[in-house]
Amino acid sequence: MPFREPLNLALRASLDHLDALERAPVDATATLAGLRARLAKPLSNAGVDAAEVVRDLVRDVEGGIVGCAGGRFFGWVIGGAVPSALAADWLTSAWDQAAGLYASGPAAAIVEEVAGAWLADLLGLPPTASFAFVTGCQMAHAVCLAAARHALLEQRGWDVEERGLSGAPAIRILTSVERHGSIDRAVRLLGLGSQCVQPLPSDPEGRLLPETLEAALDDRPTIVLLQAGDLNLGAYDPFEDLIPIARRRNAWIHIDGAFGLWAAASPRFRHLTRGVEHADSWATDGHKWLNVPYDSGYAFVAHPDAHRAAVRYRASYLTYDAAGARDQIDWNPEWSRRARGFPTYAAIRELGRGGVAALVERCCDYARALVNGIGALPGAEVVWEPTINQGLVRFHGDDARTKAVIAAILRSGDAFFTPVTWRGKQCMRVSVCNWRTTSADVERAITAAARAIAAA
Ligand SMILES: *Cc1c(COP(=O)(O)O)cnc(C)c1O
Repeated sequence: MPFREPLNLALRASLDHLDALERAPVDATATLAGLRARLAKPLSNAGVDAAEVVRDLVRDVEGGIVGCAGGRFFGWVIGGAVPSALAADWLTSAWDQAAGLYASGPAAAIVEEVAGAWLADLLGLPPTASFAFVTGCQMAHAVCLAAARHALLEQRGWDVEERGLSGAPAIRILTSVERHGSIDRAVRLLGLGSQCVQPLPSDPEGRLLPETLEAALDDRPTIVLLQAGDLNLGAYDPFEDLIPIARRRNAWIHIDGAFGLWAAASPRFRHLTRGVEHADSWATDGHKWLNVPYDSGYAFVAHPDAHRAAVRYRASYLTYDAAGARDQIDWNPEWSRRARGFPTYAAIRELGRGGVAALVERCCDYARALVNGIGALPGAEVVWEPTINQGLVRFHGDDARTKAVIAAILRSGDAFFTPVTWRGKQCMRVSVCNWRTTSADVERAITAAARAIAAA
């Protein structure tokens, strides 16, 4: 059995890593040169024994693995992995299904079908929406915006799948200045060109206001792209007011809810997403707030015909299921693909409806405690107190000082935060997205910040 030793080594190394996260420095400690020196081995002709490869890998990456799977990581927006999701992710690799067709992985197809329905339920989306499990929210944007492109141009007698975009009526995207950069990249990949994105001003709380949208709309083919949770403030556009306005102009309404759409899973925070279910498409992530391992994102489209028209391809050598099963290739942009439904299915079962709500609420409470705790330290201030799981603080002095304090926190190994320039001010972002974060982690991070302010 050639698998036993390498897999046992991997199991042991994984458990050691997950256990050590409680104590180990959060930031990487290895240097660039050190990692290159250890990992850049000569490519041998004869190959290397499998167990030795795994043993070397575990040893050589030491100090080069960031502790983002643990509870003291508050940088960017990065989740960890709940235990069953990690286990299901290992099994996904062991089973190694080509999850494009029901015929090439029947259980993978059904698990995705079931998990897709659970997700729509948790997120308050229409049960009739079609969906695709993709690598992340950016690819979910690409799928949703491809469906939007199809629908908007079909209404104007242009078959974009056949004819492409040159000569087609120009599509524009109205969105707010707070949008995430992944939207611009999805737009570029779709050939729409980044100039089609027209950023509209937001209010002081990061929201696009109805009068701003109303004034920008006309009858040209338009996608209105709204935010459920922006990356700095966690701001929600007022969907109940904006969607009817966009609807009257026949626009396609797309929602970026990479992490913020998960507020819908909590009775305490659901009001923030009120009206979001009336959009045409939604993009969100599993690898952020649901705590599914990378890489896992979800696209939902209210118009399955537009979604399928944009993505579907039929090849004579593939076997499609005639009996009504869901072939993922009809909804996904990839050809061959990983059976990434398994970890999502496992995470949702493990947590249950109440567990997802509790995870969301706990992260929001800890984000608030962190921002208020650090902001109350001498030499620090709160810039944005979290409404959900994102907030901003800054440290007194010039912009370089905030960066220096962040660097000192990272050097302590106690916590991990990232800098951002927000409305011209250098700030430290605080993001809580991991199921493992505890109040002890929050206390330790605040203490680390106090020491860093004193030292920096
Ligand atoms: C992370 C993020 C994205 C991009 O998601 P990926 O999963 O990294 O592709 C898009 N929008 C927002 C608001 C995000 O936080």
